[in-house]
Amino acid sequence: MIKEITAKSILRRYKKIDSWFISSYSINLYRGCTHNCVYCDGRNEKYQVEGEYGRDIEIKINALELLEKELDPARKRKPFGNGFMVVCGGVSDSYQPFEEKYMMSRRTLELIYKYNHPVHILTKSTLVERDIDLFKKINEQNKAIVSFSFSSVNDEISRLLEPGVPSPSQRLNTIKRFKDAGLTCGMYLMPVVPFITDSSEMIEQSVTKAKETGIDFIIFGGMTLKEGRQKDYFMNFLNKHFPQHTSAYEKIYSGNTTWGAPNPEYVFPAQEVFDTAATRFKVPKRIPSSVFKSLVSTDELVILILEQLDYLSKLKNKNSPYGYAAYSLSRIDKPIESLPIAELQEIKGIGPVTAKIVREIIETGKCGYYENLL
Ligand code: SF4
Repeated sequence: MIKEITAKSILRRYKKIDSWFISSYSINLYRGCTHNCVYCDGRNEKYQVEGEYGRDIEIKINALELLEKELDPARKRKPFGNGFMVVCGGVSDSYQPFEEKYMMSRRTLELIYKYNHPVHILTKSTLVERDIDLFKKINEQNKAIVSFSFSSVNDEISRLLEPGVPSPSQRLNTIKRFKDAGLTCGMYLMPVVPFITDSSEMIEQSVTKAKETGIDFIIFGGMTLKEGRQKDYFMNFLNKHFPQHTSAYEKIYSGNTTWGAPNPEYVFPAQEVFDTAATRFKVPKRIPSSVFKSLVSTDELVILILEQLDYLSKLKNKNSPYGYAAYSLSRIDKPIESLPIAELQEIKGIGPVTAKIVREIIETGKCGYYENLL
């Protein structure tokens, strides 16, 4: 059932640039998702999506009018920063079937093009191909990244896990078409579903198939199961289709109930398989800085590279000071690029090695250690 609602605002501005999507703003046009993936986090009560998840949808019918007001520099007292806009949401996909009729995502891209911003979109739908002309225009003017999420590249398993979306093979074909059009494309290999899509063979197959399309990066992530509607729905599915795994799930999802993360003992081996496969195929495990460095400020580049270094170090099961260092730097009220090594080291969480890395990024726009790990 589709319900049209009016929203108060549409553009969410982040306090700190997001290193998963390189975005400074997010745009969420819909609430709810008919793709109805069995693991969808959007089912959780904390997101307050009304109605039956997977069937009922709310459309922010005034979204474009609001967005135009929010983007138009003539209506702003302060200049509007030029950052990546990510068009997606944890509780909806921007290219659900009714997008064909409503064209909210297409018209959002037109506004992003008109006001000259870069864009990053994450979807599971091949309907995004309809707008390839606009992505090309945005990319020529600025930058467009088109990313697709997968839990694996196995069509049969995907039919069970993601009943409302085109198969992984169709999504891979769409990636090829976007790559042929000269666009940057990513695979979000997430969530990898424990005991169903997390075997070494399946992870390696996903990396291999993605590499064959010419993918620019793969971002890997596990599955969270929050207590309540999301966990109940998934466990019902598991009992029906994979009852042999029920007790293993009860063990690995027994800990952190707020975020629903699996136990760390489960997480590391799966990450290690991904790390090995991505390294072997030379696929970056984060959005490479070469994609975005000309579109962010020097301070943002420092934060992004430190956060990516944090992820890449943890992927190798190493302790990392970089995440905390990025957080500390994001809170100081001076430009990071104005700080010499001695002053950097006075900031909480920044030791001599991190200070040197920060200066290297400021002075060269690069970081050798980061590029090796990537
Ligand atoms: S496509 Fe994304 S938002 Fe939609 S149901 Fe699947 S996981 Fe949830």
